[in-house]
Amino acid sequence: MTIAVPPAARFADRVKIKQSSLRTRMLDMAAKLTDVIALGRGDPDLDTPPHVVEAGRAALAAGATHYTHPHGMPQLREAIAAAILADGGAAYAADEIVVTAGAQESMFVAMLALVNPGDEVIIPSPGYNSYHQAVELADGVTVTVPTYERDGFALTAEAVAKVLTPRSRILCLINPSNPTGMVIPPSEIERLAALAIEHDLIVISDEIYAKLVYDNAQVTRVAALPGMRERTITIDGFSKAYSMTGWRVGYFAAPKAYAAPMAEIHHGLAICAPAVSQHAALAALTGPQDCVEAARRLYDERRLDMCAALDRMGLSYARPNGAFYVYANVSSTGLSASDFCLKLLEEGRVMMFPGSLFGDHCDDYVRISLLQPIAKVREAAARMEKVVGDLVAARRAGA
Ligand code: PLP
Repeated sequence: MTIAVPPAARFADRVKIKQSSLRTRMLDMAAKLTDVIALGRGDPDLDTPPHVVEAGRAALAAGATHYTHPHGMPQLREAIAAAILADGGAAYAADEIVVTAGAQESMFVAMLALVNPGDEVIIPSPGYNSYHQAVELADGVTVTVPTYERDGFALTAEAVAKVLTPRSRILCLINPSNPTGMVIPPSEIERLAALAIEHDLIVISDEIYAKLVYDNAQVTRVAALPGMRERTITIDGFSKAYSMTGWRVGYFAAPKAYAAPMAEIHHGLAICAPAVSQHAALAALTGPQDCVEAARRLYDERRLDMCAALDRMGLSYARPNGAFYVYANVSSTGLSASDFCLKLLEEGRVMMFPGSLFGDHCDDYVRISLLQPIAKVREAAARMEKVVGDLVAARRAGA
């Protein structure tokens, strides 16, 4: 797709207008096709749990249609602080929690508050691409740390140490990772924390997938490690664990010295997170948690099924132990991941996103979201198997 820029239009240097966007092209193509199985976006197919929807409905009926306290409703912030502690995180007062319009807003608030022009922000690659945009809008410089399939896409302190410069200011951790689904092992988190202390880095730890882990993996909450609370901003939200993407509610937790100025920026951007969504989020946190476990089990079943299907196809991947994605290597098809995704969409009616959307060295990979019922995940895998089989056979015949 080409974006027409009117001749009189003037943009700031930081606005990068992409002349073509593969993601938009794929979404447009998919909209014109019938019977497409979408394994693209990170939006759970599950409905928000009924008791959470009901809490939202009741709140609206009771008049929750106004601004709330800019930092979020006090009772929600207290519930968040209690939940963080119960999950092995650091201890926070309610005024060290700020409720935002999704974790996404927290990310931008953090960068706008912490990055000076030219500051370097270290981001694992592949990694959630919005971090790059947030850093660029704050006139910072993104420095990526490549991670590789051969190492299970592990982010290591050793690799981070190699990219440090005197301008390094922030280290971003996305744990578990989007797109690879990797959980950073506790011992490595400790090494990363020690590195952050040694080099006086702020850590932004995005733990939005922390409740969705498999194979007994556990997410170490970096802010709870000695010496880390005062230099860590933890970002989390309700979208993934409670299937609440459309409610737009998330939060960050940070020591007051950071939380107060960040809250000012949040006020400037959004005033407050939607009131109705805050009531729903409160119900999500304080109500029964079996909905999270039920979702986790469903994603686990889909994960195992997709991994088995990839094994049958002969495609390699690093087995994810968190989130709800599989990051698979399609280089054996002879196509770049972008071309593979287009072919799979056209011929197989399955949509997934190429790895290049998440990192510069990733055009051998596709990110498969497991956000369809198991029957559809299986059908998508069968269609993918056929497309892969045809490509590999054609490649052999041509060899
Ligand atoms: N952080 C990560 C790592 C994500 O993958 C996403 C969404 O995909 C977000 C943050 C944004 O979440 P929210 O819906 O809470 O804004």
